[in-house]
Amino acid sequence: MALVNEHFLKLPNNYLFADVAKKVKIFRTMNPRVNVITLGIGDVTQPLCPAVRQAMHLAVDEMGTEEGFRGYGPEQGYDFLRDAILKHDFLARGIHLDADEIFVNDGAKSDTGNIQELVRWDNSISVTDPIYPVYIDSNVMIGRAGTIEDGRWSNVFYIPCTADNNFIPQIPKQRVDIIYLCYPNNPTGIALTKQQLRQWVNYALHNDALIFFDAAYEAYIQDDDVPHSIYEIKGARKCAIEFHSYSKTAGFTGLRCGYTVVPHEVTASTLNGERIHLNQLWYRRQCTKFNGTSYITQRGAEATYSPEGKQQVRETINYYMENARHMKDVLTKLGVEVYGGQNAPYLWMKTPNGASSWRYFEEMLYGAHVVCTPGVGFGPSGEGYVRLTAFNSHEQTEIALDRLSKWLG
Ligand code: PLP
Repeated sequence: MALVNEHFLKLPNNYLFADVAKKVKIFRTMNPRVNVITLGIGDVTQPLCPAVRQAMHLAVDEMGTEEGFRGYGPEQGYDFLRDAILKHDFLARGIHLDADEIFVNDGAKSDTGNIQELVRWDNSISVTDPIYPVYIDSNVMIGRAGTIEDGRWSNVFYIPCTADNNFIPQIPKQRVDIIYLCYPNNPTGIALTKQQLRQWVNYALHNDALIFFDAAYEAYIQDDDVPHSIYEIKGARKCAIEFHSYSKTAGFTGLRCGYTVVPHEVTASTLNGERIHLNQLWYRRQCTKFNGTSYITQRGAEATYSPEGKQQVRETINYYMENARHMKDVLTKLGVEVYGGQNAPYLWMKTPNGASSWRYFEEMLYGAHVVCTPGVGFGPSGEGYVRLTAFNSHEQTEIALDRLSKWLG
């Protein structure tokens, strides 16, 4: 008899976005004539930019020739993309990394979920709260998170980020082995300054802890004192693994490409105190479980670094950020308590009169026909908030704001 991994059974039945989709579907079935606008799910709406499309067309044609055909590629990514990453994402910011510290992947979700395989099941983990649910759920699946009670996992150390601390996570007094950080943050839309992030790197170095740093939204950073990479902080290459994604940067949510940085200096210990380089382990893991991102997709990713590609990608990001600014402006004028939206495409809205996240989600859906995401789905400190995204078109965002103005007014 095969025995199931019972840790999976501890997971709440549905993934947050599936729950949201189900409720929206019920509403649409009951109200087929109503055009619902979603400011909820974090998918992008703007098409791939011309530079990416052109590079991918060329790559397809290349693959159609005998000389240009490629089969399995290197699991860690083609050199052309790794070199472009090194040059544009790091060297341009004064960060020196080696190509074999970059692992190209099929998006940040896989690696932020998989990275925990490198460390023992009994490490203590900590997350800022609210947070992207993948970090916790992937730890639940192997039994590291314990059991859930009142929306909290018994073995997870939560670092609350609320209006009381301006959504800036406070350094824990106790030591933890692993810390997940995501900045700019999904869902609060808040970014950390260099000085604030430095405190975390120092904490990790002092406590011999690891930081898993998710930089999926770094392209949205507007402020100069906000780091685009944790490696802008001295010492981070000894304690941090970083995740990047082309999803929100260049509209690759449907194409799938990102990369993970595992510096040579990052180590974890065996029970005997031997230090093991995580770069080697991740290399080994990827060679076994991952067969690379498609050549065509990697050519598309490479094109985001060409002069035209950079400009086109920037234009789309500016487009979304214009939505974010406008949303924040309108909502603030309506007297709504709203945060984020400055260095990230997310706005974090306090529900009026202490309404619960799910209740307010339903009220907004039925009252304004606008979809948000209930904050509690991102963790206990998200209760009493909802998340709005800036990823819709200007036109749809404008209509949604108009509806919200009437509804709230
Ligand atoms: N990390 C964060 C914080 C995200 O919000 C998301 C997607 O919403 C991802 C990672 C996943 O990105 P990808 O599309 O690259 O898998």
